[in-house]
Amino acid sequence: MNNKKIIIIGGVAGGASTATRLRRIDESAEIIMLERGEHISFANCGLPYYIGGVITSREALLVQSVEEMQNNFNIDVRTLSEATKIDKEKKVITIKNLKTEQIYEESYDYLVISTGAFPVKPPITGINEAKTLFTLRNITDTDNIKNYINNKSPKRATVIGAGFIGIEMAENLHHLGMMVSIVEMSNQVMAPVDFEIAQIIHQHIIDKGINLILSDGVKEFKNEGKEIILSSGKSLNTDLIIFAIGVRPENSLAKEAGLKLGTRGGIWVDSNLRTSDEFIFAIGDAIEVRDFVTKTETMIPLAGPANKQGRIVANNISGKDEMYLGSLGTSVAKVFDYTVGSTGNNEKTLKNKNLDYNVIHIHPGSHAGYYPGASTLSMKLLYNKDTQQILGAQAVGMEGVDKRIDVLATAIKSGMKVTDLKDLELSYAPPFSSAKDPINMLGFIAENIINGLVETVQYNEIDDLIKNGSFVIDARDKIETSFSSIPGTINIPFPEIRKRLNEIPKNQKIFVFCQTGIRAYNTVRVLRQNGIDAYNLDGAFKTYQSVYNPAQSFAMDEFDDSGKMIFEKEETEIKTNFSKMPTLVVDASGLSCPGPIVKTFKSLESLNDGEILEISATDPGFKKDVSTWAMKTNNTLIDLKEENNRFTATILKGNKTELKKSTEIVKTKEDSTIVVFSEDLDKAIAAFIIAQGAASMGKKVSLFFTFWGLNILRKPKKVKIKKTFIEKLFGSMMSRGTKKLPISKMNMLGMGPRMIKSIMKKKNVDALEVMIKNAMDLGVKLTACAMSMDIMGIKKEELIDGIEIAGVATYLGDTTTSNHNLFI
Ligand code: FAD
Repeated sequence: MNNKKIIIIGGVAGGASTATRLRRIDESAEIIMLERGEHISFANCGLPYYIGGVITSREALLVQSVEEMQNNFNIDVRTLSEATKIDKEKKVITIKNLKTEQIYEESYDYLVISTGAFPVKPPITGINEAKTLFTLRNITDTDNIKNYINNKSPKRATVIGAGFIGIEMAENLHHLGMMVSIVEMSNQVMAPVDFEIAQIIHQHIIDKGINLILSDGVKEFKNEGKEIILSSGKSLNTDLIIFAIGVRPENSLAKEAGLKLGTRGGIWVDSNLRTSDEFIFAIGDAIEVRDFVTKTETMIPLAGPANKQGRIVANNISGKDEMYLGSLGTSVAKVFDYTVGSTGNNEKTLKNKNLDYNVIHIHPGSHAGYYPGASTLSMKLLYNKDTQQILGAQAVGMEGVDKRIDVLATAIKSGMKVTDLKDLELSYAPPFSSAKDPINMLGFIAENIINGLVETVQYNEIDDLIKNGSFVIDARDKIETSFSSIPGTINIPFPEIRKRLNEIPKNQKIFVFCQTGIRAYNTVRVLRQNGIDAYNLDGAFKTYQSVYNPAQSFAMDEFDDSGKMIFEKEETEIKTNFSKMPTLVVDASGLSCPGPIVKTFKSLESLNDGEILEISATDPGFKKDVSTWAMKTNNTLIDLKEENNRFTATILKGNKTELKKSTEIVKTKEDSTIVVFSEDLDKAIAAFIIAQGAASMGKKVSLFFTFWGLNILRKPKKVKIKKTFIEKLFGSMMSRGTKKLPISKMNMLGMGPRMIKSIMKKKNVDALEVMIKNAMDLGVKLTACAMSMDIMGIKKEELIDGIEIAGVATYLGDTTTSNHNLFI
């Protein structure tokens, strides 16, 4: 059909996809795209990272400008234009121009609603008066938050709601140097994963210094949002609040037009994404979709489905008959150093829906253990034992989460059986995976269960089994049990099982666990072949421990007796006078739990009391395990460092008194911060000489480059990059890198700098470039001021490598531990 007139309401993910696809198919159609806001087609998903300074260019968030959309796709884009009414009988909508207040009507042949979802803001006392409170949905919200941070320099931030947006915001505000609290009403973060998977992230979030408050909600905002009263009665003082407790479909237009809504309030659509009116389609966050697995209605507010639905609707308007097959809710998020991903249904949903399911938990290495840098990948798979349908999967780890979740999402969509996973031929080389990929492992285990080779019990059943007198074997090595185990269990290490069969009762069920499941499975196989009815604890001690040995409640420690939050605790650390170098240095990286602890134990065995072991590991569990283990075994953890996901523990064997004698408590306020404002060569040299000196004395040094100082960090060669005319002009007038810097006195048209450089060379003083490199090697932090970059039109790509881009809050955060602060 030619000359169709299509109006699309909403100009971001779903709306913009529909518009461009329509144009690609139908050159003659009249396409009008209405957007209430100022911007179209922006990257919502990047907003938290722009606020945090990780994404430095605001422009980069604007995927398509209005002009590009109009010029390239011949689409009539109307921003600041709100659709206020749909008259489906007349096929006319009413539009309000928000700039001119003009109200007018526009007819359509087809209408597409892609109005998205809005952040929920319940009527909590004081919420409307809270001047510190922000929600995040679009560029305007982002600008508001960013301006507030730049103008008010908040020190304490509180994120209410621990979903994707809340967690991403918490990480980014922490990145800016703020002290961040997260308040979440449920007992876990990240609702798409189940509790035992979320627990792993809880620990990590706390380890990063976030004040994580679970199972508590907001009762009241006081003092214009400077104080938050929680349901528990506790109170938090805060300078900034991000309110992110979830979203609701933007359905008012559809509702008022008499279109059918679904049970959850989203717009109802059929499998062609057509609403109850044959000329109106709806997509994205505003609609209810079919859960691909359970075939029931659900809401999945994610960018992937919205974009794909836009394409399908465009095809259908153009005469095709294409169906949307439903959503899996496949999602992934970065939580500091971890990645969390999920697809399909979680256990909570399956339980609520009374559906049959089996569970497998595994904790393999992210890649071959012998190749450096492997870390633990914790996965959970849900499937139906009778039909072998895969129902859902979750994963958390530092590496390889997304690819495993994507493989499983593909497997679910293609209708693969759980046992088919064992046959998948996935790419393998040691830095990336193992010859038996974790996905294959899930298939092997499922097949073993389905074929009756092993039966499992879950982490939440084992305590009751023990209480009721069951015989539970801990198949780990003795030393592993010495620092944590499940009370009431009997330690029979797997290598001893054949010799100790006579200790095991024959007429009852026997339950076995080890650290990650493999030794217990081997034990179960020995027992079963000896006529003993043995069961494996699925997910092993690792899953059990993550649930029942939860992270210490940091939140509780941070409140004084009156329930007020104490944040400004003076940090202290034990500084030892131990001049002794480590007696033994051991590298346990690549080993997954309990490997590093076993290695720690064996290495310390070879040392005498008072000698020191330095051991490094990449297993994230090592950080917690080594302190517990040292405490329980009466050894002394002198130091525990974390750098690039590598943990290095320094342990003194035994005898704490020797350490105590030689320790003193010192305040950590001894670091060094320098603001580099000037681009003068002599001043830059002075800044780097001081920085290197302070760093070599063991101080943490932070240099914050702002305004002209940024020129020192510019690459010497011009970088090809999109800039506005003014930015280009400005850029060409400023010094590009260390070679072009002037000096503060006697510049003499560049003669002065050349003379200084030549004198420095003669006197064997490093050139500024070398000083910068040396300072970076010494761990000096070089931060470029995001705001100055924006003003001066300097882009990240123009800066030398290794520069952090951040706001003033990061710099102010660094000054809190600094004993001097220079302005150069
Ligand atoms: P939107 O993209 O929200 O677009 C709806 C547009 O309609 C809005 O711009 C609105 O102004 C406009 N509108 C509404 N009513 C009217 C009206 N009456 N007249 C005119 N215009 C109107 N998803 C992921 O998959 N991964 C992520 O990492 C991720 N991160 C996110 C981070 C943030 C901070 C946010 C806010 C969302 C994130 N999402 C993420 C979700 C994703 O952005 C949404 O699922 C997706 O944008 C939905 O597309 P949509 O077209 O339905 O709605």
